[in-house]
Amino acid sequence: MSIVTDSPVWRPFTQHALQPGAFKIARAEGAWLEAEDGARFLDAISSWWVITHGHRHPAIMQAIREETERLDQIIFAGFTHEPAEALARRLVALTPPGLDYVFYSDSGSTCVEVAIKMALGFWRNRGEARTRIVALEHGYHGDTIGTMSVGARSPFNAPYEPLLYEVSRIPFPSRGREQETLDALERACRDRPAALLVEPLILGAGGMLFYGADTLAEMQRICAQYGVLFIADEVMTGFGRTGTLFASEQTGVVPDIACYAKGLTGGALPLAVTMCKREIFEAHLSPERARAFFHSSSYTANPIACAAALANLDVWATGEPAARVAALCDMQATRLARFATDARFSNVRQLGIIAALDLNIVQGGYLATIALDLMRFFNARGLLMRPLGPTIYVFPPYCVEAAELDLVYDAISEAADCFGGST
Ligand code: PLP
Repeated sequence: MSIVTDSPVWRPFTQHALQPGAFKIARAEGAWLEAEDGARFLDAISSWWVITHGHRHPAIMQAIREETERLDQIIFAGFTHEPAEALARRLVALTPPGLDYVFYSDSGSTCVEVAIKMALGFWRNRGEARTRIVALEHGYHGDTIGTMSVGARSPFNAPYEPLLYEVSRIPFPSRGREQETLDALERACRDRPAALLVEPLILGAGGMLFYGADTLAEMQRICAQYGVLFIADEVMTGFGRTGTLFASEQTGVVPDIACYAKGLTGGALPLAVTMCKREIFEAHLSPERARAFFHSSSYTANPIACAAALANLDVWATGEPAARVAALCDMQATRLARFATDARFSNVRQLGIIAALDLNIVQGGYLATIALDLMRFFNARGLLMRPLGPTIYVFPPYCVEAAELDLVYDAISEAADCFGGST
């Protein structure tokens, strides 16, 4: 097996003392990764939720090749380029109506940081001292200091705690307890916060927990009633994951600010956008330079990444991904059904193409070694999976075939036999 152990590379979210090695991947195609020695892994989590159609979609690869004949990175202040202009126009047309402005960045964390800064800049420019963000308990929005602050406090960010700012937390709207969330939100809104930031319909990294569009719509209604900005972090939900192109579509209420990243280029290149309503952009217009939106990164609106995103939108325009998403939702439902009454698991659940279930074991918590043990178990069976503690989830690219999904679900059942899911 091609495993790299002696390497200067410091990998993300890795305890190198427990996981000294990494599989060295030489090739990716469709739903599969292939290591240097030919070992294959079915990418059942879309390489950390970025790949949508499948690895190396031909149209996206072609667009990248073509753009490299024309442009590389171009400074994006005082200069622009057609890939960024065309992509912004397309995104404004495609996303919920009213999201009229597009700010480019390059990762999920950054586009959420941008959203928070936009919200605070909006209020400051309107002469209101509103700086507090309201967020869901157990949320995850990234790993920068700002996005860790709005995310759940956990062992992952404990060392940085002194630098994290305070946030108003409202409980996750678990089934039957939605009203508690709505009441807590209403109370928080009375303190005139700047914005509510949520992952629509889901807590992703926080445990693959889902909540309903009705609750989300109600949260948006409360924000509107109190004049609190609503920020949708669609970094993970965007581009088909929840069954619709964007999760926000399912409420019919347009967020004031929306963040998109992972699936924007089909997963091929890093690119992110923060989109906002006209009033947020216009609040930053002034003869005073100090009211501008001061945010930039060197690689803002990389033309090659923009070209990849445009090609991705062309792929969506064919209607084929939407059909594949619908078929994948059904395929997941059929396979999950087998576990619905399986006493070795609990909380068998699905949102769009995302399926999740909790292995009933004594050991719990995200940091429990069960996650590593399960990951190794799946890896040894040629599956790329990264359970969240005892929560196993299946989040495949849309090209995955029924027989390939069967491999995943058979391995999940086998894992329950091995790891003592109680029967
Ligand atoms: N927001 C959400 C909802 C996410 O799921 C993630 C990553 O998983 C992020 C933000 C951070 O994205 P990135 O890893 O690209 O910085």
